[in-house]
Amino acid sequence: MYVDLHSDTITVLNRNHGQLARNDLMISLEKGAALKDWAQTYAIFIPDTLHGKEAAAFYDDNLGFFQIQMQENTGRVSQAKLFGDVAETWAKGEAAAILAVEGGGSLLAWDMDQVEKMSGAGVKFISLTWNGKNELASGNETQEGLSELGREAVAELERWNITLDVSHLNDKGFDDVVHTAKKPFIATHSNLRSVCGHKRNLTDDQFKEIARRGGIVGINFCKSFLNGDRDKAGFPDLLRHIERMLSLGGENVIAIGSDFDGTTVPDGMGSVENLADVGNYLLRAGLGETQVEKIMGGNAYEFLRRTWG
Ligand SMILES: [Zn+2]
Repeated sequence: MYVDLHSDTITVLNRNHGQLARNDLMISLEKGAALKDWAQTYAIFIPDTLHGKEAAAFYDDNLGFFQIQMQENTGRVSQAKLFGDVAETWAKGEAAAILAVEGGGSLLAWDMDQVEKMSGAGVKFISLTWNGKNELASGNETQEGLSELGREAVAELERWNITLDVSHLNDKGFDDVVHTAKKPFIATHSNLRSVCGHKRNLTDDQFKEIARRGGIVGINFCKSFLNGDRDKAGFPDLLRHIERMLSLGGENVIAIGSDFDGTTVPDGMGSVENLADVGNYLLRAGLGETQVEKIMGGNAYEFLRRTWG
């Protein structure tokens, strides 16, 4: 079982007029064909520069593109909207697609009813920011926390059963989420700052808080988030982050959030084909079979079971 909590593939494909079935990116259905029981998250990434109607048009265009990709690849991939859809899709030998939104703040600030629409379209995870600031919250390159409207957005997401993704939030925003959120929240693609001191990574306390509330954290393959010297980043860094997470009580928390097609990753883990290699590396490195299965997909699958209904 492989569950990946984050990729930018759909947004990149739409921009480049590519196709999900076959392409030169890190993820295609062809590249993932050998993965048994594969669920891939596809995020619609709304750039910080878009606001209001422009953000809405961008989202609609990418949603339409995602839906066309699903239709054109019937029999190979299906969107999972309910928990039961995931296993049903796998039983048919198809890949499951999970829809998400990265940087949804400006769009929700413009029209909070978009949350209901997104829920209807099957969006399962939303981050309020990318790296910059918007009307709801501030990303890791900026300073402010959640605005009043940002707090309302958290409640609205919970009301429509969409999971809040804190991966790009800054520390102040994270603290505000801790005081606002009632449901579990997740970091779809972040590592640990105590292992690699990048602001995009979580502090040990943040990781423990996500765990305490029943959330999960996807390990990001981004070179700069794996190793302070990005040129040295590789498989051993995955293990360093995972071992530290395990020491923080992360046995049932650690997942995969590759960030495929959104970042630069080390050799040997450069495409979805390599997910099996990642699992095999962790086994060879001495992690138990059950633990590796949990990291590669089991923990994320269990989270979907708990939260999707
Ligand atoms: Zn990201």
